[in-house]
Amino acid sequence: MAKQESHITFSTVVGIAYSLCGILVLGIYPEHAMLALALIIIAGMLPDIDHGSGKPAHELGALLAAIAPLVIIEAFPELRAGGMTRMALVVIVCYLITRVFVVRALQMFTKERGIIHSIPAAIIVFQLAYLIFDDLYWFDRVYVAGAAFIGFFSHLLLDASGNLNFLGKAMGDKSRPRPALSFSGDTWFSTAAIYACVAVLGWFVYWDLYPTVQRLSSL
Ligand SMILES: [Zn+2]
Repeated sequence: MAKQESHITFSTVVGIAYSLCGILVLGIYPEHAMLALALIIIAGMLPDIDHGSGKPAHELGALLAAIAPLVIIEAFPELRAGGMTRMALVVIVCYLITRVFVVRALQMFTKERGIIHSIPAAIIVFQLAYLIFDDLYWFDRVYVAGAAFIGFFSHLLLDASGNLNFLGKAMGDKSRPRPALSFSGDTWFSTAAIYACVAVLGWFVYWDLYPTVQRLSSL
């Protein structure tokens, strides 16, 4: 497994290239390109939330605890109308849920290099990013969500390159880790669950993008 530092370095390089390409070629706002860079770096660390030490899972929990209240208050403006008390409650509840339940669940249900290290998981990251940034113009939204996918995918790619154990192969070493660029989990249940997630989120993304696609195709 590639180390955390090499993942950060690799995804930073990929992210800088992606955001420069966005600004210079696609005419993306620098602000959105910066968001894309941040997403690539975060998504580049994301697959290791299944790491046995639990450290990346805790970091994800902390990040979610910080972002979740923002997303919830944005989605339900009536919460803001309740003043400081209601907002403080949202923050505390989000913190408890993410730190206690999400982190525990990740540690319990994921296996190192399991279903999280797979292509469908990268697709879910794209879909979630697309659905979260719903106030962006559709093109910027696809660009930003694409950044999340690329960050995640770059992690898998780096892990996969670390798997190319040529010497071990030549020596008949059978202890090669599970391929990082896989389309399935290690059990049929995890595979079924992840494809169900892809389908449900895909349905939401489809209905969100459908009017735009229809409008573009009628031009
Ligand atoms: Zn990994």
